[in-house]
Amino acid sequence: MGTKTIVRVKGTQDFLDLTLFSFIVRQFEQHVLLYHFEEIETPILEHVELFRRSLGIYTDVVSKEMFLIDAHGEQDEQLCLRPEATAPTMRVFLEQQPLLPWKVYSYGPMFRYERPQKGRYRQFHQLNMEVVGSSSISQDSQLITMLDRFFHENLTLNNYALQLNFLGSYADRENYLKVLRAFLDGVNGICKTCQERKEKNILRIFDCKSPTCQELFEDAPTMVDHLSDESKKEWEQLQQELSLLSVTFSYNPRLVRGLDYYNKTVFEFTSDSLGAQNAFCGGGRYDQLANQLGSKQTYPALGAAIGIERLLLLLEPLRDTLALPQPKPLYVLMPLSEEQNSLALLIADALHAANLVTDTLLDGDSLKSMMRRANKMGAAYALIVGDQEQQAKTVLVKNMMTGDQEQVAQIDLINYLRR
Ligand code: AMP
Repeated sequence: MGTKTIVRVKGTQDFLDLTLFSFIVRQFEQHVLLYHFEEIETPILEHVELFRRSLGIYTDVVSKEMFLIDAHGEQDEQLCLRPEATAPTMRVFLEQQPLLPWKVYSYGPMFRYERPQKGRYRQFHQLNMEVVGSSSISQDSQLITMLDRFFHENLTLNNYALQLNFLGSYADRENYLKVLRAFLDGVNGICKTCQERKEKNILRIFDCKSPTCQELFEDAPTMVDHLSDESKKEWEQLQQELSLLSVTFSYNPRLVRGLDYYNKTVFEFTSDSLGAQNAFCGGGRYDQLANQLGSKQTYPALGAAIGIERLLLLLEPLRDTLALPQPKPLYVLMPLSEEQNSLALLIADALHAANLVTDTLLDGDSLKSMMRRANKMGAAYALIVGDQEQQAKTVLVKNMMTGDQEQVAQIDLINYLRR
């Protein structure tokens, strides 16, 4: 009828082979359970206000990248597709008031209206973990160690770096922002975007890609030089504990992360093999997020998010070396004519009850084309039932590797296949 076929939405992906994807998620689950994290799931739909308050209205995510939902004209119900999971997790915490410290993980799709490129999508998937209700900086050391072990031990990755910075308390940060603003007042030639950032979201100047700005900012004051004594101690402690646990990191004074809620520890795991979008995990501490969301009480907290698509890029070249789950042997049942379909259903039902993976070809194709299909499907055995087998109450069992075949009594089939 000449109409164009409908293709996927820009910046989204269809996954047809989920082997690696599921491997990552399963490994992650096994790993974080060892650290006594519990799984939660939160909705994809949230109030826009949740992110305005938490991430900050001047961040790219909130000002440019939100997928807003028309909630049927209900004025006070401005909804969006969640761009991240930390604020939603804190919302759940405040609504449900679970026991402290609350250590949870979740995974699912996130949505950001970004310009798609390698490793950057508009719908992507994150694994998230958050610890709510702990102010100890050792908790930060343990979370980072947990992630490093996951990438290195579980996923066998080597080609990555852990970048670390310390933003201090909110008071330190305010002081530092003044110092930074004074520094910027004294330099000439920063780009227009950085001029704007200076007014609205000053830390983001460090994300600027312009070589001129980067050069100018090389002499910028650093956060760790403007910490209070207490923060300085924590920053030292964090570095010492990571060293004690043999976690390799590099201090990056330019690492500020895009979202407003961070204080103290911020970190990113990056890999040069990813190209421009080189971070595959990021996180940090956000001790006042609960307050930003309206809580009178303060709940110190920290967390991290892993980008699954970027891990997939890193793991694809290692696929053959990973302990991916081996599929169970596949049995393909082939009724030779429609007359044998009902018998095939009965046999398949018995095989399924015995936990044997069985596919049944019910569309009346020729034996030759069914065999070809079974081959492509990677079948271990073809189970053929024709008129003759129906009469004799047997199944013709063909080993797809060797080509050997044998008539087996229907009643003995499961034992025969299991041996
Ligand atoms: P963020 O929530 O921005 O700290 O991101 C955490 C992680 O999610 C990043 O390190 C990336 O691995 C991943 N990520 C963020 N945005 C995207 C995107 N648009 N496409 C794919 N992955 C993303």
